[in-house]
Amino acid sequence: MTAIVLLSLWSFNLTFSQKENRPRLVLLIVIDQFRYDYLTRFEPLFGNGGFRRLTRQGAYWTKANYPYIPTKTAPGHTAIATGAPPSVTGIAGNEWIDRESAKRITSIGDSAAKTLGGSSRDTASSPRRLEASTFGDELRIATNDRAKVIGISDKPRAAILPPGRRANAAYWLSSYAGDVISSNYYFERLPDWVVEFNQTHPLDKYFGARWDRLLPEAKYLKYAGPDAPEWENIGNAPGDTNRFPHTITGGATKPGAAYYDALDHSPFVNDVLISFAELAIEKEQLGADEITDVLTVSLSGNDHVGHRFGPDSQEVMDISLRVDQQIATLLDYVDGKIGLKNTLVIFSSDHGVAPLLDKSWALGVRPTRIANTTVMTAVHAAIAPRYQAAHANNSGSGPALDDYILQYGEGATKRDAIINGNVYFNLEALKRDRVSLDEVTRIAGEAVMKVPGIAQVFTRSQLERCRLACPTCDRSTSNSKGRRFGSLESQHSVSDACSGIDNEIGRRVLRGFSSNQSGDLIVVQKPNTYLGDSVDPANHGTPYSYDTHVPLIIMGRGFKPGRYHQVATPLDIAPTVSLYLGIRQPSKSQGRILREALDPAIKN
Ligand SMILES: [Zn+2]
Repeated sequence: MTAIVLLSLWSFNLTFSQKENRPRLVLLIVIDQFRYDYLTRFEPLFGNGGFRRLTRQGAYWTKANYPYIPTKTAPGHTAIATGAPPSVTGIAGNEWIDRESAKRITSIGDSAAKTLGGSSRDTASSPRRLEASTFGDELRIATNDRAKVIGISDKPRAAILPPGRRANAAYWLSSYAGDVISSNYYFERLPDWVVEFNQTHPLDKYFGARWDRLLPEAKYLKYAGPDAPEWENIGNAPGDTNRFPHTITGGATKPGAAYYDALDHSPFVNDVLISFAELAIEKEQLGADEITDVLTVSLSGNDHVGHRFGPDSQEVMDISLRVDQQIATLLDYVDGKIGLKNTLVIFSSDHGVAPLLDKSWALGVRPTRIANTTVMTAVHAAIAPRYQAAHANNSGSGPALDDYILQYGEGATKRDAIINGNVYFNLEALKRDRVSLDEVTRIAGEAVMKVPGIAQVFTRSQLERCRLACPTCDRSTSNSKGRRFGSLESQHSVSDACSGIDNEIGRRVLRGFSSNQSGDLIVVQKPNTYLGDSVDPANHGTPYSYDTHVPLIIMGRGFKPGRYHQVATPLDIAPTVSLYLGIRQPSKSQGRILREALDPAIKN
């Protein structure tokens, strides 16, 4: 009897406590391309209201790494919101090759959707490719759609993916018309308050703006080194140089696509996003009642600036100091409007960035840029002679060159299908000539391994064999102390099937490998090496810590402030927040509950 009474009292307390802790708003702030070390490197220069408030008042994980590749924007934002890696979310990259149409697909491109606002040149977008629920989706369902869930960013993928498929709205910026746009996926027309915001031409007021250093130059020389080293190649940025001050015009005489692109590559685009986020809170009455709402804000200026100038530039230092102020502005606004005590603030980033090649030289590493054609030349050279006879017999004409690599493109231009280090083979041609995919990818892989700068290659059959033998080998779950990234070694029975994958890079590849979307040969370069044809001086996408290590901070009632040195990943955010809100876990969540920081009343 006593036991029953105690038990029901205990349950009552638990429910009560969860209700008390339930925030009015969950505010997810993502900075696109913000490496963990920016927080520590520039810490002495931050103000008290931005990162310092988050690191001092929040639970702050020092060892949060993405456990997969490609470390790119769409998979990163998806992982934060769904708790799942690219292998299962339907979002295997920012883009991939679709075998059926032989076209490049973007993660949010949707030809069935219509853009609301903007220009006809803005790509119609929606979350239809997302195959996992987000914590926002689950909150909508749990509240019978009374919760509001809204996403905001400069980039469509960073606006659309975090709130999820059942979101009320996602808003992003038109690259051509310079206004806030959306998709008819959410509603038939833009809300009036968005139309009114656009009538103020919110982007155009920065035309000709001067971007100069926030602090005296001496600080930048101390923390970042000299301005304008030659490797800050901005040859493709009209009207700009690689030194401060930058004048934001895009080389144009009036606002237009060139100017909006220049604005994207400046800190001012984040100011527009912050103002719009504040307006969304006010107009949509986010956090105004007892029912928890979700607002996701992804600040993209940092990614554009990082690509163009590199992580060690004065420009990245400056935009990091400015984003600290922008976040302070948003947090102050939320505090005034809703109260930070009624808000759960989550801060992270979608990926880091690799050092520019000059910094690798400084480490004594010989840095390399590997063009896609270098990889493909090695592939063709290895497979053409091996299969020439089979090819000649079956294709009729007997050309010296094979057609075993999938070709993709728009219109007349066709090229070999290689993207993010994924090489796609032409399965029909292989079938025609009775060539085994396993064999041809192995032969191609051996040849690619001889290309200087390549670290490892993985074939489709190798990855699928391992996954079949060990369905949990690419799971990210584990306890906070133990092995974090699945444990291939501990599963001796599968070691044969997983041979070659039983290392950390292999596991990261496996977690990023989607049977439908990924290629047939996955090529991973060595650290400090660039693979691909991007014109950007700096890039990201690898399994190395400079791309995987990001901040992870949760600030709000129920989370004990402090530094947590347990191993974590951004995939842990969604299941933790779901538990905290008392809602169902996102459908494909593999993250762990960050119990170490949770109030005991919540985690039990
Ligand atoms: Zn990027």
